[in-house]
Amino acid sequence: MPQSKWRQEGIHEEAHLLELLNFISDCMWVADGGDNGTLHYTYFSPSIEKVSGRKATDFLESPTLWLSCVHPEDSPYVENGYRRLLSGRAVSDRNDYRLLLKNGEKRWVRENTLIRFDPISGKRRVVGVITCLTEATQFQEELARLAAIVENSDDCILSKSLDGIIQTWNRGAEKMYGYTSNEIIGKPVSTLIPSESTGEFENIMSRLKRGEMIDHFETLRRKKDGTTFPVSLTVSPLRDASGRVVGASTIARDITLQRAFQSTLEEKNRKLQQSNENLEQFAAVASHDLQEPLRTVTAFCQLLENGLAKQLSEKEKEYFGLVVDATKRMDSLIRDLLEYSKLGGCLQVNPIAASEIIERAKANLAFEISAKRAEISVGNLPTITVNHSGFTRLFQELFANALKYCHGSPRIVIQVMAVGGEWVFSVSDNGIGIPSEHHDDIFRIFRRLHSRNEFPGTGIGLASCRKIVEAHGGRIWVEKGQDVGSVFRFTLPIRSGSSDI
Ligand code: ADP
Repeated sequence: MPQSKWRQEGIHEEAHLLELLNFISDCMWVADGGDNGTLHYTYFSPSIEKVSGRKATDFLESPTLWLSCVHPEDSPYVENGYRRLLSGRAVSDRNDYRLLLKNGEKRWVRENTLIRFDPISGKRRVVGVITCLTEATQFQEELARLAAIVENSDDCILSKSLDGIIQTWNRGAEKMYGYTSNEIIGKPVSTLIPSESTGEFENIMSRLKRGEMIDHFETLRRKKDGTTFPVSLTVSPLRDASGRVVGASTIARDITLQRAFQSTLEEKNRKLQQSNENLEQFAAVASHDLQEPLRTVTAFCQLLENGLAKQLSEKEKEYFGLVVDATKRMDSLIRDLLEYSKLGGCLQVNPIAASEIIERAKANLAFEISAKRAEISVGNLPTITVNHSGFTRLFQELFANALKYCHGSPRIVIQVMAVGGEWVFSVSDNGIGIPSEHHDDIFRIFRRLHSRNEFPGTGIGLASCRKIVEAHGGRIWVEKGQDVGSVFRFTLPIRSGSSDI
C-alpha cells in the first residue's frame, strides 16, 4: 500500500475512533513524550469531564493540570510510572490512584498506559485509558463492611445450600456451637440438630424453597460437646441474580438465659398472684369477722349510754359520744375494706354506653349533687366493654371526691379521646386541687391528705379506682387542672364483646 494511502486511511480510522470515544465512560488521553521525561498532552476524550470535573480543553491548555489533579500522596508514584514508560523500561503499565477533585472529593481511578513509537515522526507517544473505580471500590468497601459486621456479630450467622450443606460460618456461630469454620463448613446442617428436632429441617427447607422467611422459630440445637440448648432461629431464603432460591441464611440466638429468666418470672408472677389472692381473702375474712364484734361494741355502748344517761356527767357523755363515733368510723372502714377486697376477682365485662354508667353513678350520688348544686357536663361518650358495677363505682368515687373536695359549687366535666388503641377518659373538677408531690401516693390505700375534721373519708376510694382500672388493663393518674382543681385521667383498652377479664 502506498504510504500516502496508508496515512489517509490511518487518519480516517483515528477520526472514527475519536468519535467512538465520545460514547464510552472510560476516558482516553494521548501525549507525546518530551526529552526530559515529561508528557505533552495532545488529546483528552470528552469523558474526562465526568471523571475529573474539568473540561478536556483545560488539560490541553495547561500541560501540568492533569498531574495537579492527582492526589499529592499518589503523584510521585504516577509520575514514576510515566518515566518508566518513556525510558523504555516498560511498554505498558497499570496504576490505581486517587484524583483530588476541586470540591475536595477523592476518586479512585485505574490508568492503563501504553507507549507507541510513531514510525513516521519517530516520536514516542503515550496513550492512557482511565477508568473510574470509585463506585466499584465503594461497593467493595460496603461488602467488606457488611462482611465484618456479620463476622463480628455475637449472634450466630450461617448460610447453607438447599441440600443443607453449611457454606459460611461466623465467629458468633463458632462461639455458640463450639465448631470452628474449618471444622463445620462443608458438613450437613443436621450436625447441629439434635434427635428431638429431626424432621424439622425438611419442613424449614420446603418453606424456604417456596420463598418464605421463617421468623423467630424456637427450637433446640446441639453443640460440638453434644449438649443441647434452646435457640430462636430466623431463616431467610438466599436467591441468585435471577431470583431463584439457592440456599438459606440463618441467624440463631441462644435463648437459654431468656428461657430461664422467663420461667423465673412466671414463677414469681404465680407466687405474687397467689399471695395477692391470699391477701384479698384475708382482708375479706378479717373485715367480715371484725364486723361482728364491732356490732356488739356499738350496740352495748348505745345501751350503756341510754341506761346511764341521767347519771353521766357532761364530760362522760362526751367520751361516750367519741366511742360511738369511733365505732361508726371503724364500721365504715371495715365495709370499705371488704368492698375493696372484692374488687380484685375475675370480672365479667359487657358492652355498655359510657353515658349509662355515668347516669348510674350520678343517681347514686343524687343527694350530694343537689345539696352542693353541682354541675356535671358530659362530652360525647362511646360504648365501652367493662364490668358495669366496677365502672359505676369508679365514676362514683371520682365524682364523690370532686363534690367533697370543693369549697364552692362543684363543676365536673367528663371527656374521652381515643389514643392509640385506648380510650383516655378525663374527669376534671374545680376543687381544692392536689399538690403535685402527692399525685402518686393518693392512689395508695388509706392515704389521705386531710384530717377527718376537714373532710370525712377512709382513704380507700382512689385505691379502689386504681384496682378497677388496672383490672380492665388500664392506668390511672391525676394532673393539675388548667386553672383550678384536678384532672383525673384513666385509660381503657378499646375492645368489644362480652368476656371475663
Ligand atoms: P378519701 O376521699 O376517702 O380520703 P380517696 O382515696 O378517695 O380517699 O382520696 C385520697 C386523698 O386524695 C383524699 O384524702 C384527698 O386528699 C385527695 N383527693 C382525692 N380526690 C380529690 C379531688 N378531686 N380534689 C382534691 N383532693 C382529692
